[in-house]
Amino acid sequence: MTTMKNTCSTTCLIETTDKQDSAQNLSDKQRIVLISPYDLGRQPFALAEPAALFSQAGYEVKCLDLSQQKLTTEVLAPATTVFLYLSMLTATRIAIEAMPRIKKMAPQARIAVFGWYAPVNEQFLRDRGVDAVFGGESEDDMLAYTASITDEDDHPARTETVINLSRIKFLVPDRQSLPALEKYAQLVLPDGSRRIMGFTDTTRGCKHLCRHCPVVPVYRGHFYVVPADIVLEDIRQQVAKGAQHISFGDPDFLNGPRHARRIIEAMHEEFPALSYDAVIKIEHIIKYPEFLPFLRDSGCILVTTAVESVENRILERLDKGHTAAEFEMVVTMMNKHNIALAPTFIPFTPWTTIDNYINLLNRIAELKLIMSVNPVQLSLRLLIPNGSRLLELPKEETCVTDFNPASLGYTWVHKDPQLDLLQENIRHWTEKAENDGLSRLQIFNGIRRIALKATGRNALDVTEDHSGNSIPTHSESWYCCAEPTEQQLASF
Ligand code: SF4
Repeated sequence: MTTMKNTCSTTCLIETTDKQDSAQNLSDKQRIVLISPYDLGRQPFALAEPAALFSQAGYEVKCLDLSQQKLTTEVLAPATTVFLYLSMLTATRIAIEAMPRIKKMAPQARIAVFGWYAPVNEQFLRDRGVDAVFGGESEDDMLAYTASITDEDDHPARTETVINLSRIKFLVPDRQSLPALEKYAQLVLPDGSRRIMGFTDTTRGCKHLCRHCPVVPVYRGHFYVVPADIVLEDIRQQVAKGAQHISFGDPDFLNGPRHARRIIEAMHEEFPALSYDAVIKIEHIIKYPEFLPFLRDSGCILVTTAVESVENRILERLDKGHTAAEFEMVVTMMNKHNIALAPTFIPFTPWTTIDNYINLLNRIAELKLIMSVNPVQLSLRLLIPNGSRLLELPKEETCVTDFNPASLGYTWVHKDPQLDLLQENIRHWTEKAENDGLSRLQIFNGIRRIALKATGRNALDVTEDHSGNSIPTHSESWYCCAEPTEQQLASF
């Protein structure tokens, strides 16, 4: 059963202190392992934050990041509770594959899960032996659960899943037991040089309700700020460990524009050479145009934005809050202010036609964005996870058939089988081309050839003059809503 909890912050703080006191008494018996299966190549804030809370409460805490480390008996055998962070589809699929091995290595441990994908897949996860499921601002609940475990409770399951939307008291993330920053994704500049990246969040959740977004079923239009002093101390500790660039992982950096500005001003004053990137939605770029010169002058060199489609009727179904014309306006604004824009897309939806797909490729070329679009973006198919607002649309519109536990999403089949075939072909071709080391322009031209051939037309390749400039990129090119690869599933 899932319930929502929303209490005032004062009550929350008092409760936390009580919980921490009782946790202290148990700390000699409780050993916590926090596992992140995958977090887009980032050193996970979502592990470092509860690690700080558990450490402060006196528990022995170890973090394991399966994108960098293997499961080991040495870490897992003494564990009394293992928390797995399920931030996205790829992480959840890896966690499910890893669960039997975790249980074998830590036979007496309770297994708990948290993150966006945890509460929406509650029953599925419980059926696989998960004892407790946490959602939203869950650190206090995780601590309380751990503190509630007594010697008599051999293996207590927490049968109620609470999506907690109370404010928590944030601490400076404890990153000590995570792999070094240089092991994680780096910023690659157009000249090929690299910068070590640090990673932090200034907010969690989102105030928007885009239909396809996995944040929405959990946060339902709420977002929470991480206090500026905590964020700045987190940046400071990562700069001390070598970070030359900060990647902000907020679902949207301008959900709280004044909060973002306060942090950036202080960060830039203290570390003027530090560059940064963030995710900002089209609607916010248009709403806060005065932010662009400020971002550029304070070291922002890359903004990622979720465009999803260049067809208004598809954007309306996704409830994205922008139009195709507004996307083009944003391209002009970002060019004017000399900030690189990395647009992301969901090209294959139940409403995409083959002409829509070719139109998307043409618009990307006309706007000189070929070098700005990660090729995997051109092969993505809409995911409909549990709890998705897309399920509010009539089934005839979404073409949804049933829930597929293997993929943790609802199956949908395009009315035109040619589209599903095209997506498969493009996905395979793109994966191979990336492995073969082809350039973004070569991959784009290959994709365009496949798409035009499907309509019986030949394509003239786009030349370098029209591909646009290379932009800074993250060396980890995976995308949060993509299906995991075989290699990722076997990573642990
Ligand atoms: S897609 Fe982005 S803006 Fe929309 S609800 Fe999700 S996080 Fe918020």
